[in-house]
Amino acid sequence: MEMPCSSSKPRYMVVVAAGRGERMGSEIPKQFLPLNGKPILMRTIEKIYSTDKSIKIVLVLSKEHQDYWRLLCEEYGFSIEHRVVEGGSQRFFSVQNAINTIEQDSVIGIHDGVRPLVSRQAIRDCFDKAELDNNAILAIKPNESIRQIEGGATKSIDRDSIWIVQTPQCFDSKTLKQAYSQEYRKEFTDDASVVERLGIIINIVEGNRENIKITTPIDIVYAENIINEELDN
Ligand code: C5P
Repeated sequence: MEMPCSSSKPRYMVVVAAGRGERMGSEIPKQFLPLNGKPILMRTIEKIYSTDKSIKIVLVLSKEHQDYWRLLCEEYGFSIEHRVVEGGSQRFFSVQNAINTIEQDSVIGIHDGVRPLVSRQAIRDCFDKAELDNNAILAIKPNESIRQIEGGATKSIDRDSIWIVQTPQCFDSKTLKQAYSQEYRKEFTDDASVVERLGIIINIVEGNRENIKITTPIDIVYAENIINEELDN
């Protein structure tokens, strides 16, 4: 078993929450919707803070939602320290803005604001592996069978060859800053795809299955049940 090394570098978590969340079909973007009476984004930040209080939290919000967030913080008496950075037109630019505000020699995690059910163990494992081996991303194996489109038909593929990617994704700060100095490409759907473009091998750490990206109304039902049943750890 690999021993986690004691944390020697500062750890940052960039929480990206500058998206519009149109698939939820609500006026308010999904990251602000309540989950058992508390905004999703607050639950996500609380999870990070309760994992390790020394992780510095950088929250990325679009300009138009920053006042709303401040009001929510007052309303809920939310006092976990975090700094707010302005988002960009794509996730890529939101992350870029955040990492430009972070010191050079650190380990930087990036986490979707709409993933409050990540486990504390998974957050720790991801940072520890990145501190040891440059980078780490959380992923799980698919339960379903998988088919790939090929020409006009579909073909079964070995599901053991597939990982479903989650966040956080953690990186040595120097690598991440170099990766995000590249030109934006539309294939950059997550941070690993940006870093990989430098020719760097991405390490996978097994995540927890409950760590869904809350995207559609059914995901809220699932997440509330996990919390009600005290399966959220
Ligand atoms: O749109 P998608 O669900 O892939 O977004 C993943 C995460 O990235 C969400 O937490 C969203 O708020 C964030 N995001 C962002 N800036 C954007 C687009 C998405 O911070 N321009």
